[in-house]
Amino acid sequence: MKIEDVVKAEEGEIFDIELDESLLKANAELAEQNRALLRKHGVTAVDVMGSIGAGKTSLIEKLVQKLKTRYRIAVFKGDLTTTIDAEKISRHGVKTVAINTGNECHLDANLVRKALSRLDLNGIDLLFIENVGNLICPADFPLGSEKRIVVVSVTEGPYMVVKHPFIFMDTDVAVINKIDLAEAMGVSVEKLREDVKKINPNAVTVATNCRTGEGVDQVIAALKL
Ligand code: MG
Ligand code: ZN
Repeated sequence: MKIEDVVKAEEGEIFDIELDESLLKANAELAEQNRALLRKHGVTAVDVMGSIGAGKTSLIEKLVQKLKTRYRIAVFKGDLTTTIDAEKISRHGVKTVAINTGNECHLDANLVRKALSRLDLNGIDLLFIENVGNLICPADFPLGSEKRIVVVSVTEGPYMVVKHPFIFMDTDVAVINKIDLAEAMGVSVEKLREDVKKINPNAVTVATNCRTGEGVDQVIAALKL
């Protein structure tokens, strides 16, 4: 399905990633405004973060398939310039807004605010926000969501969690994806689970195969949806 809504970052609009205190503060303030706006309209927003190819889009597709009869869902899909993933998601019949960041490697609260203006918030209960594939700077840029998911896959090797502690510190749900390939990759799902627990004992870790849908019900339970 062709995506009509594409929010584009204008020149000079995105906060520079030379993480200047005041820029991070400005982002945090906008994130609070987004949070207040979403709360006012009874919308639960969930960030989905993870590196390129981890399975963020596949997870969102499966979540949308399972939840769309119970909730009115919208999806924001962050990417540099493409709308490929946004088109995939919109095929499931949910309102999808592509956010193209240009050359920036993360979403920020300002871009999410712009994308929110494309939605009828009274017509939505649940919003998934898929960040640009990246396990580093999204940790510094809250968007105003209620819940955060981080997706890692076993095909990224055994050290993805320990190498990226900051993104796991603040997450509610850690998804370990592509578990069907764990043995072939020589990666222990249990070890990844322990790595998450050491960084963030409050995070719920769920092992999934987002191609088949295995584990997706546990992700929904962990999000309390
Ligand atoms: Mg994707
Ligand atoms: Zn970035």
